[in-house]
Amino acid sequence: MSRKADALVASLSRHPELQDRRVLDAVRRVPRELFVPREYQDLAWEDRALPIGHDATISQPYVVAFMTQSAHVASGSRVLEIGTGSGYQAAILATLGAEVFTVEVMPALAEEARTRLTKLGLADKVHQRLGDGIGGWPEEAPFDAVIVTAAGEQIPEPLLHQLKAGGHLVIPLGRYEDQLLKVFAKTRDGQLDPEAQVPVRFVPMRRLD
Ligand code: SAH
Repeated sequence: MSRKADALVASLSRHPELQDRRVLDAVRRVPRELFVPREYQDLAWEDRALPIGHDATISQPYVVAFMTQSAHVASGSRVLEIGTGSGYQAAILATLGAEVFTVEVMPALAEEARTRLTKLGLADKVHQRLGDGIGGWPEEAPFDAVIVTAAGEQIPEPLLHQLKAGGHLVIPLGRYEDQLLKVFAKTRDGQLDPEAQVPVRFVPMRRLD
């Protein structure tokens, strides 16, 4: 598998904006084939999103790398992720040494992610919670970074509250056809400073009202 991993990382590193070697090393080390359904194994190391069932997708490696780098994750960072999905983004964060708090609304996906993360020895670094991620995880706040991996129209207020000043929020906003992944830094006075944006296609946030 390592030749495929090397090829993927080589292609990612050709993007001038993907500069963080630590993030690219994490992409090389996390076995993405464990996170995709059997019928897509052959495509696991391609730079593309793949269906994981339950109307969810594992994000494209480029997007995972970009989100991770934009969140400025260091060893020991406390990171909130909304949308565990396959568990791949959480595994990348944990491989970088972060303590990850990830919320998923679909029980089957959460369960499968738990199995994978346990198999990789990452379960002690990734804390999972089942439920609507809109409210974040107040008991574990504040977080150094918040990464949202399902798209909504606006930023859920609780997520902003649960982010430390100086921390980063990475979130896809807008409808499928017209979506931007936005990166913000939270200022001392609680405002959001836009830092970057790229076009993406995330599945919509499920609404539970
Ligand atoms: N980060 C994932 C990709 C997530 S796909 C990975 O690395 O594989 C988006 C995920 O968000 C799906 O699993 C979906 O079920 C979940 N989701 C959608 N709405 C949600 C909500 N309101 N709360 C928590 N999770 C949600």
